[in-house]
Amino acid sequence: MNERGEASTAGWARWGTAEAAKELPDAARKLLAQVLDLTPPPTTVPLAEVALPDCELDGAVLDALRQVVGDGHVVTTAPARARHAAGMSTPDLLRDRLGRPALAPQAVLRPADHAEVLAVLDVCSRHGVAVVPFGGGTSVVGGLTPTAAGHVTVDLSRLDHLVAVDPVSRTATLQAGLPTPRAAELLAAHGLTLGHVPQSYEYATIGGFAATRSSGQASAGYGRFEDMVTALTVATPRGTLRIGRAPASAAGPDLRQLFLGSEGTLGIITDVTVRVRPLPAQSHYEGWRFESFAAGLEAVRRLAQDGPRPTVLRLSDEVETMIGAAGSGRSDGGCLLIAGYEGGDVRATADAAAGVLAAHGGVPLGAEAGQQWARHRFDAPYLRDALLDAGAFAETLETAAYWSTVPQVHDRVRQAILDALPDGALVLGHVSHVYETGASLYFTVICSPGPDPIDRWRTAKAAASDAIAAAGATITHHHGVGADHRTWYATEIGEVAVDLLRTVKRHLDPAGILNPGILVP
Ligand SMILES: Cc1cc2nc3c(=O)[nH]c(=O)nc-3n(C[C@H](O)[C@H](O)[C@H](O)COP(=O)(O)OP(=O)(O)OC[C@H]3O[C@@H](n4cnc5c(N)ncnc54)[C@H](O)[C@@H]3O)c2cc1C
Repeated sequence: MNERGEASTAGWARWGTAEAAKELPDAARKLLAQVLDLTPPPTTVPLAEVALPDCELDGAVLDALRQVVGDGHVVTTAPARARHAAGMSTPDLLRDRLGRPALAPQAVLRPADHAEVLAVLDVCSRHGVAVVPFGGGTSVVGGLTPTAAGHVTVDLSRLDHLVAVDPVSRTATLQAGLPTPRAAELLAAHGLTLGHVPQSYEYATIGGFAATRSSGQASAGYGRFEDMVTALTVATPRGTLRIGRAPASAAGPDLRQLFLGSEGTLGIITDVTVRVRPLPAQSHYEGWRFESFAAGLEAVRRLAQDGPRPTVLRLSDEVETMIGAAGSGRSDGGCLLIAGYEGGDVRATADAAAGVLAAHGGVPLGAEAGQQWARHRFDAPYLRDALLDAGAFAETLETAAYWSTVPQVHDRVRQAILDALPDGALVLGHVSHVYETGASLYFTVICSPGPDPIDRWRTAKAAASDAIAAAGATITHHHGVGADHRTWYATEIGEVAVDLLRTVKRHLDPAGILNPGILVP
């Protein structure tokens, strides 16, 4: 956090800074103008000019908090509070652009360690002040915007150390506030990697990944974030939990799973012990073309179930392939598959997988197509900024389903979005996380903003969420529940499970201060 109390070097009201901005390719710009009604956006209100009411926290509470974290680490300036008011969904960015961020915290607290986090929770519990844990601030599901006004944000950016490395067991303990690039740098100094590469890599944190059950682009090879977690330390209003002490255990239910995905509602994760792997000696990416999404899905399923499994495996549907080709000047048609291999002898694995892909109708496009994907793997959020600047609306949503229903879920969700946006939308889809039993589906929606883009999206997103539920898929594969998916989550888990969650929360957080309105229905 810099001296203005800003959380990260991300841009204000956009993913990237102005210097890192990316241009839309001309062909994409032309295509957009043909199919959408573009509306030039209003000028973004600079962060320094965002007006918020003064901090209304009781003086005694502020003093108690200052005693815990130190004077300089209780920040009440408007820029710091505006920065911490929301995450990075498109509605969040649009509100920020207008200078009207969602419910801003009264103060941003920056504890230095676990003991200070515990003490902050104690002060806030005693005074009934709601607390929002804040990692990288990249939530896209309203995970940082509680329902109770008057809250404080606990920014974890000072918990940014590598605590321990056990190279024999291949584990490392990382503090929760470490952003991924810094965590990668610290591990690389020991010749190790986490292998967690979400698209939010630049800003998201270790604690945020654990709190939301994140999944990265290399999940086919390295697994989801929760697969990597061997132990956790959690500060709760009731005290400290340290969970996980062996590579596997039959000692009762696995309580790590209670906190993985708990989205700051049961406690604040202060460090995470993760399984790590040696830095890959080699990496190789390549592209393949399939005649149709159905044909590509069949090939992807065979690799996921019978192997050999690439480290990165993603298949774009026809529309995503077509839009990607328009951006890059290619026009191959069909569906693009990217396979990436990392590790020791990647050639042997790639050759064996190539046999499976070819046997299912895949046509090799070579290494350049794969390297192009790898070079641009973090571009999408910058292109969203460019789309918003060009007067379009762009947002994403995701789900996961068993293989037997993946094609239907894809079609039903796509159709629900198109029906909800009758004046036209581009709905791009892909599979990027695969399992023996099924896969994720990720959709990017680009449409005209209309006079009220946030309301328009709320309707379309609700239609998509209803379609996901009706098709028997899950409301989220990796973005989490936040405030936005809470209703669908409650239906998905059922009444008994909702009661169970509420009971656990009441036990750990009797004053109900932790992220009220997030996750727990
Ligand atoms: C452009 C973009 C691309 C994305 N791509 C991916 C992707 O590829 N894969 C993926 O999984 N997700 C992705 N996301 C979603 C988001 O990055 C993830 O949910 C990420 O795990 C959040 O990490 P964070 O540190 O930013 O957490 P935050 O956004 O700060 O917090 C997320 C939630 O967790 C809680 N929380 C944060 N830290 C802690 C903690 N230490 N203890 C307890 N609770 C905590 C917060 O209160 C909040 O409810 C993307 C988001 C964006 C904007």
